[in-house]
Amino acid sequence: MYIVMLGAPGTGKGTVGDLLSKELGIVHISSGEIFRNYIKKHNKLGQEIENYITEGKLVPDELAIQLIEKRLNEPDTKNGAILDGFPRTENQAVVLDGILKAKQEKINIAVDLNLPDEEIIDRIVKRRTCPNTECREIYNIDFKPPKVDGICDKCGTKLIKRIDDNEKTVKQRLETYHEISEGLIKYYKNQDILYTVKLNNKSDLTTKDIVEEIKAYLENK
Ligand code: AMP
Repeated sequence: MYIVMLGAPGTGKGTVGDLLSKELGIVHISSGEIFRNYIKKHNKLGQEIENYITEGKLVPDELAIQLIEKRLNEPDTKNGAILDGFPRTENQAVVLDGILKAKQEKINIAVDLNLPDEEIIDRIVKRRTCPNTECREIYNIDFKPPKVDGICDKCGTKLIKRIDDNEKTVKQRLETYHEISEGLIKYYKNQDILYTVKLNNKSDLTTKDIVEEIKAYLENK
């Protein structure tokens, strides 16, 4: 089964994707995390990727597709994957369909998490992330602070504020997202696999509720 997580940065794609991955037993692949891992290698490719990310711009399609395709060929994707952050453009979506078709697979659902921009900005500047790739827990200094300041409750790793989690970059990331998301959303709507979840910071819809909704949709499909 293949699930695509759409939605602007900061809407909770990672958190929902992680729980879905546990419940459905399929691997969670975050394109942003793949790129951040390349940045850590401090080589030419990592530097190139860092330049795009710190400017709030998308990594060029060709490069993004190449790195995701490589990841989708790893053995842990044999039961499918939850794709978080990929595709980001209609072109990436078309190429992804081709990659899956060659494996005799297809996307079962594209989940669009919807949150107003002002709430996204507030969420992201207060976001703290566990950089341990086995953990990836997300905190918010206001509504979900860690028990010990700056330390992950789950694994004890020092939390980080991502290089692109500042107001200026978030605004640029949102602008980029809105420019290209419409086409992507239409693309999945036309295939009748789009599932939209309307959120706001006051809503009491938990991650678990969202995951249950998605599972119910998949069962009734
Ligand atoms: P994310 O962790 O999904 O918020 O992604 C962080 C950054 O990585 C984005 O702002 C983009 O610069 C880059 N990125 C992530 N996924 C993609 C993609 N599918 N295509 C191009 N750039 C991407």
